[in-house]
Amino acid sequence: MEHPENSEEYKGLTVNAGVEQLSSVNPYLTANRFARRALLSVQEYVDGILKGDRTILSKAVTLVESTRPEHQALAAQVIEKCLPYAGNSVRIGISGVPGAGKSTSIDAFGIHVLEGGGKLAVLAIDPSSEITKGSILGDKTRMERLSVHPNAFIRPSPTAGSLGGVARKTRETIILCEAAGYDKIFVETVGVGQSETAVHSMVDFFLLLQLAGTGDELQGIKRGIMEMADGIVINKADGDNEAKAELAARSFRNALHLFPMPESGWTPKVLTYSGFYGLRIKEVWDMIWEYFDFVRKNGYFEHRRNEQAKYWMYETINESIRNNFYFNANISDMLPEMEKKVLEGKLTSFAAAGILLDTYNAILSSK
Ligand code: GDP
Repeated sequence: MEHPENSEEYKGLTVNAGVEQLSSVNPYLTANRFARRALLSVQEYVDGILKGDRTILSKAVTLVESTRPEHQALAAQVIEKCLPYAGNSVRIGISGVPGAGKSTSIDAFGIHVLEGGGKLAVLAIDPSSEITKGSILGDKTRMERLSVHPNAFIRPSPTAGSLGGVARKTRETIILCEAAGYDKIFVETVGVGQSETAVHSMVDFFLLLQLAGTGDELQGIKRGIMEMADGIVINKADGDNEAKAELAARSFRNALHLFPMPESGWTPKVLTYSGFYGLRIKEVWDMIWEYFDFVRKNGYFEHRRNEQAKYWMYETINESIRNNFYFNANISDMLPEMEKKVLEGKLTSFAAAGILLDTYNAILSSK
């Protein structure tokens, strides 16, 4: 008998049959976890993106950013299928040193452009994440209004790899966002080092955010960055700072006169505004539309995009060749020795490079 307590001897006491032992693993949890980790098919990603599904778009971007070869292969197919639906947007680069007010300004510009309809994606290229593994542009909660806007998609900078690699991933993400119907793309970067060049190579308009300082603000700005700018805006032109900002704007205008006319035929404009108080946001935005009008008419818009497409083809080849060379086991073994010989004066730089390249070519042809 299963339960001896139910025997005749024990009157007034009955023990019911127990229920089946529960599994120690929560079956719902397992199912969810599995669902979260599972990859979708290429078609599922593409259909989701074309429908404008933000969750699927996010997952596809994660795939683009992944370093795993099987993810990259899947990402490449998704991108290829999205490509016919991409390109129909305005891409705007926004650069400024930390504290210049990029987050505050992007929030203000973003809300302003979304009032006119459409969808906005905010992406970032953050070179600091490569060096320190920390991110200057990581804290997206500062874009308070945009981060909860149904028509905005905000994505922090990819972190893995070289600046070239990070930039390429952002460029691929632009394609996915455009296919998902985002017709305005902001690419944010910190105004230090090489990242502006990377951003410039993927946007239609490059906006440089500046602050009014002590009157010698021009000294701190690299000439190359000024030449890249299609518009310069002096932020924090509010309260006591307004007059100083006007003064700074004037010195920027004067400095720009000394530069040759840009290829676009457009003379960069310098404006003052306040992202925080929302002052003259419309003027900044009108200037950007004026630029687009101008370069669409004179053909430069198309020309710049074509040049960028070529640039990225060569850039991808260069990066791949460079990686293959440096990650080759024989070459990386030889490098310290060759470097030592160059430093000791036993080999010239050119001879050492020649030996390394010959070795590499021999490895390639023996494959
Ligand atoms: P980021 O590092 O370039 O993203 O700069 P943030 O947007 O985080 O701004 C840096 C600081 O400047 C914050 O404390 C902002 O509140 C402040 N700030 C940003 N824009 C303005 C502005 O237009 N006027 C004033 N007075 N302060 C601002």
